[in-house]
Amino acid sequence: MIDPSAGLDRAADVLIVDGRIAAVESHLDARADVPVIDAAGMIVAPGLVDMHVHFRDPGQTHKEDITSGAEAAARGGFTAVACMPNTLPPIDHPTVVEYVKSRARSAACRVYPIAAVSKGQVGQELAPIAGLAASGAVALSDDGVPVASAGLLRRAMSYASMFDLPVIEHCEDLTLSEGGVMHEGAWSTVLGLRGIPAASEEAVVARDLLLAEVTGARLHVAHVSSAGSVRMIREAKRRGVTVTAEVTPHHLVLTDESVQGFDAAFKMNPPLRTPADVEAVREGLLDGTIDAIATDHAPHAPEEKMVEFDAAPFGVIGLETALGVVWTALVQTGALTPADAIMKLSTAPASILKIPGGTLRPGSPADLVLIDPNRKWTVDAATFASKSRNTPFQGWTMTGKAVMTIVGGEIKHSDLEVEARV
Ligand SMILES: [Zn+2]
Repeated sequence: MIDPSAGLDRAADVLIVDGRIAAVESHLDARADVPVIDAAGMIVAPGLVDMHVHFRDPGQTHKEDITSGAEAAARGGFTAVACMPNTLPPIDHPTVVEYVKSRARSAACRVYPIAAVSKGQVGQELAPIAGLAASGAVALSDDGVPVASAGLLRRAMSYASMFDLPVIEHCEDLTLSEGGVMHEGAWSTVLGLRGIPAASEEAVVARDLLLAEVTGARLHVAHVSSAGSVRMIREAKRRGVTVTAEVTPHHLVLTDESVQGFDAAFKMNPPLRTPADVEAVREGLLDGTIDAIATDHAPHAPEEKMVEFDAAPFGVIGLETALGVVWTALVQTGALTPADAIMKLSTAPASILKIPGGTLRPGSPADLVLIDPNRKWTVDAATFASKSRNTPFQGWTMTGKAVMTIVGGEIKHSDLEVEARV
């Protein structure tokens, strides 16, 4: 049993009563009225929390909807996700926050809405932040695009602080990235594709760190992909700037070289960068500069992605592969301990968003994942619960899998060979 919130990493039993964790002890006697799950050889941990998903609902439900997205999340071991507001219409009004919350009630995991910074996410006028906070938005973001106006972002940060909401920034200077489809470097030159320089991310990270310092607001940098961003965030944290950051599984393991097959499953924004950047984001994850791993799950229908690389939309899915990628590439290799992985995939994102989860403390909602750390499996997108198939990990052999996902004491996904017995 691993619980980073309590420094717990040892063999134990957990008792769940009425959807909550009632006790965690070295040994608990079985109760006649409670089914027993034998998790010998498994890791029991707080359910994973993905603070960055796109569920396309409302508006583009042919790609994903809240039901299918939450099902994909539960299969991947996630018990809670926060969905980005770039829907149609965007989550820029309390009525849309209410819509997401109402659809989430019957979903396979908890789904929290992130609301827009600006009305329509077009960067002109502030969204009604007080109303969005009151209706249950857990953060503010114009993700998909950056907040281009520094003045607007400064005002958004000041308001967000009044409601203790983090502002999540998609850091990209559109005047530097315009027309780009992959990382600007040797591979973009070889492949003849227009590049997105690392500086387009870093310029906005620098600006946003200054604004976080001026306003005292909680800045969260989404999908950090470049060495320069890691360096600036590390330096800002040292000085006490209230900044947190996330990295995606794909930016931890893939480089721009993968684009050479012109497969749009390797096209996302920010793009895959160089081996030196991958090394830097890994170092940032290990030294605490990067707090969380988030998937940026971005579904697109096959017919939308099956076009020439230049024309395909940005984005890849990640909920059903995240744990496998992290376990295979970072835990099995000894780079991250299992407890560190759970911290980055659960405890840290829950605490950044101040949502329930990320802990097994008695009294908490019984949101748990059972991980088989040695289960070998092969990624086959055809079997995914997501409506979309755009994964860069198709055919990969993974070690480590979520074999059971429990949300509020209910089993939402099970692939466990030993079944529950009463
Ligand atoms: Zn983004």
